[in-house]
Amino acid sequence: MPSLPESHYRAAFDQLPHAMMLATDEPRIMYINEMFRRVTGYHEGDVIGHRPSVLSSGVHPPEFYRDMWASLTSKGHWEGVIWNRRKSGETYPQWLSIYPVQTGEGRFYAGVFSDVGENRVSNESITALAYYDPLTGLANRSLFQEFLKARVTQGARSESRFAVLFIDLDFFKGVNDLHGHACGDRILVHMAATLRSVLREGDIVARLSGDEFAAIVNAGTSEELEHLLRRIFQALTSPVVIEGREFFLSVSVGAALFPGHGQTAAELLQNSDRAMFSAKQAGRGCARIYSAAESKEGMRTQRLTEALQGSLKLSPEEFSVVYQPQYDLQSGTMTGMEALLRWTHPVLGDVPPGEFVPMAEQRGLIHELTGVLIRRVLTDLQTLSSDNVGPMVLAINISARQITDGRLADLLAPFIRETRQRGWQPEIEITETHLMNLAPLCLQRLEEFGRQGVRVAIDDFGTGYSSLAYLHNLPVHVLKIDRQFVSRLQEGCRDSRIVTAIVAIAEAMQLEVVAEGIEDELQRRILREMRCHRGQGFFLARPSSWATITDHFLDVGQLK
Ligand code: C2E
Ligand code: MG
Ligand code: MG
Repeated sequence: MPSLPESHYRAAFDQLPHAMMLATDEPRIMYINEMFRRVTGYHEGDVIGHRPSVLSSGVHPPEFYRDMWASLTSKGHWEGVIWNRRKSGETYPQWLSIYPVQTGEGRFYAGVFSDVGENRVSNESITALAYYDPLTGLANRSLFQEFLKARVTQGARSESRFAVLFIDLDFFKGVNDLHGHACGDRILVHMAATLRSVLREGDIVARLSGDEFAAIVNAGTSEELEHLLRRIFQALTSPVVIEGREFFLSVSVGAALFPGHGQTAAELLQNSDRAMFSAKQAGRGCARIYSAAESKEGMRTQRLTEALQGSLKLSPEEFSVVYQPQYDLQSGTMTGMEALLRWTHPVLGDVPPGEFVPMAEQRGLIHELTGVLIRRVLTDLQTLSSDNVGPMVLAINISARQITDGRLADLLAPFIRETRQRGWQPEIEITETHLMNLAPLCLQRLEEFGRQGVRVAIDDFGTGYSSLAYLHNLPVHVLKIDRQFVSRLQEGCRDSRIVTAIVAIAEAMQLEVVAEGIEDELQRRILREMRCHRGQGFFLARPSSWATITDHFLDVGQLK
């Protein structure tokens, strides 16, 4: 077979869909192909005979090149992401493979690269699979991290500013569940294309996993960033038609600016993720720029949640119950008490229920929490030896979210049985805010508790939005006036009239009224004159341990 003329080799190299450069051992550039000229903007005259470092962006530190040469020597090849500079001065990332070529006359090096800044895979090689997301063609997490590391190094040298965005599609799981994965995939592809179209050349977009995307964008100031975020939202939230159905997407975005919000790639990515989490917590469909204070708060919440989970499962002894006596305001006799949960964590110390109860509600731990409460209360009750303690109301707080939980009845059964066996009155308190959203089924459950002899109290009354019509139909027996109204009780003031109105409503609906948070004599007197039935507050008695209650309150049974 005749040997191939050199012009054929040259033509083949020039039509290669990758940029190619050959360099001597020294190294000096001795050949570039057509794609090289197109990608870099350099022509033969600019680079032939020069060191390959003429292409370098200044992004990578000297160690980077040392490692590259070491790998070439030891493994016979090197490949990875490298940032180079085009003739125009623009720096850009490329996926570069270098390997030595040995001929009879000596050795030279071949460098083949593709421009990865376009965020698009042009082939399906192994490298492409390892660094690109096959569905959207965007860079994957590994490649994104490479980009980010290089960008941080570059930023540190040139003082160029940029931001990392963390973009998460809201309610994506629901779309997948309802419309199938094929439809979900098309939404992700649409999202990838939209993101690419709004971002500028030189910005990097990646799909990190599932419905999580990230981007490195050129934005030096918060104003620039906010402007960009507005563009992203506008583009992403316009309706999209997929499989003949119109979708309205919603995204939560977190942003971290370099260098203010992180000085390493890992820090920037983590902080943009935290900011995205704040956006989710703020109700989704919005963007948040990283704030150290917010993140500290978020970290505390996370730490507390993890601790709560652990303690509920493994260390129930960290929980205890205190009891706050309640009095008949007319006669001054003690009529009952409210059980209040306490949590002392060995490291975090005392955590107030105002903090851990909502946390348990949000993280699906409220069933376990009420379980711990009831077991503690039952243990305390069992120590009660004297039979001559008169009838008492024993109230516990139940989260309204639990009413929907079918397991609540089983949880409450022993509490109801034990209290009633002692001739005591079981009461459950449910905060007004949540009570208003209950479905009819839940109201039936409350009625069922009522039939079992439980009294139902509306806690923190006055803070929610009860309509009188709704209230009238609720199977409740007691209204607890929120302590913010009680604390402002003074003769003739507006809040006094609110309390008067609440007492009147209760009377009209034949409900008992309890005032909570009584802190002084004046408040107690006003409430008594208003004919409020029961009262509770620091002025009357503070929440106390079971031992104190049995020693000092139950046998005395009288107001101080
Ligand atoms: P709540 O049910 O309205 O309980 C009354 C709260 O007011 C208690 O706070 C009590 O210590 C406090 N308090 C009582 N008298 C006074 C007073 O005169 N002045 C002032 N400033 N405060 C007074 P605590 O124990 O911190 O509980 C806060 C909230 O946490 C409770 O409000 C209740 O909503 C929730 N909670 C407490 N224990 C439990 C529980 O076992 N389960 C559930 N689901 N929630 C609980
Ligand atoms: Mg309560
Ligand atoms: Mg209350």
